[in-house]
Amino acid sequence: MTPFYAQDFLILVVDDVSQNLQVLGEMLEQVGYETTFAVSGYQALERVKTAKPDLILLDLMMPEMNGLEVCEKLQVNPGLAEIPVIFLTASQEQAHLLLAFEKGAVDYVTKPFNAPELLARVRTHLELKYTRDKLKELLQEQEKLSKELERLATTDPLTGVWNRRHLFALAEQEINRAARYQKPFSILMIDIDKFKQINDNYGHSIGDEVLIIMAKVTLQCLRKADFFGRFGGEEFVAVLPETNMDEAAIAADRIRQDIAKIVIYSQQDNQINITVSIGIATYSSEDQTIDTIMQRADQALYLAKSQGRNRVITATYL
Ligand code: GH3
Ligand code: MG
Ligand code: MG
Repeated sequence: MTPFYAQDFLILVVDDVSQNLQVLGEMLEQVGYETTFAVSGYQALERVKTAKPDLILLDLMMPEMNGLEVCEKLQVNPGLAEIPVIFLTASQEQAHLLLAFEKGAVDYVTKPFNAPELLARVRTHLELKYTRDKLKELLQEQEKLSKELERLATTDPLTGVWNRRHLFALAEQEINRAARYQKPFSILMIDIDKFKQINDNYGHSIGDEVLIIMAKVTLQCLRKADFFGRFGGEEFVAVLPETNMDEAAIAADRIRQDIAKIVIYSQQDNQINITVSIGIATYSSEDQTIDTIMQRADQALYLAKSQGRNRVITATYL
């Protein structure tokens, strides 16, 4: 733990007897703690909300609302339940202590107060709270970090869609599901036509922009349950669960048409249009691995290219 500085901590002292407040205040302030006071349970609840103390010294017996009720009310408030509460009790009130711990107390001190003992207990619970908070913070950071790592490992940095490896993993899951439930699914292999010319004519950064917009438009054409990723370069793959060949052909043609409507402007304000060729393959029960389906989609794509590009070809018509 980093060095312990008493002045970094605010302690709320609650007691209906002002003399007790004075005694406790002096003990705490002597070693440097910041203090704030309340003379009733109601006032304590108000003060807790505004002052956000690090620890509460809470008198057990008070008129109107006793310490147990205050503690109970703190426990049901998520923002306040974490504040450690140490009860202040007279020796004849020991019988209530069990209840006090049940209500969420972390410790107690008995009247008349013994300064070294009281200060030792206060410090212990402040340190415990500090360690707990730090641990929670660390765990949250770690969780954020691992989510970020997962995102980096599964997505394509340029377009934000799934990368090749993750798309393969998703497609593997789909083939297992299809085999088990006898459901169809289809794969679209989508490749931008003459993309090299765009890079050559307008530069690589315009090429990148084309890839980003193309991915965005394609995603808009797909359903939530579909998977879409970048296979590499200017080649993309969509996996369409529970979609047969005819339905896949309709989806593919919608993508082809929407991409043909994209207009991008070069630095010299030239209007750039793009088209895509799409190969479709649908799962059949003979497919043991995703590769055979991908290969069929790739062959269909190759045909689409050789037949003039800007078209959709389905693997069965090969
Ligand atoms: P086809 O119609 O036959 O598909 O022709 P094509 O020019 O699209 O295909 P080819 O495979 O010959 O060229 C693909 C080009 O894509 C070549 C490569 O420089 C470019 N490319 C690959 N990855 C990126 C990228 O991340 N950004 C940019 N700007 N270009 C890329
Ligand atoms: Mg291409
Ligand atoms: Mg290519």
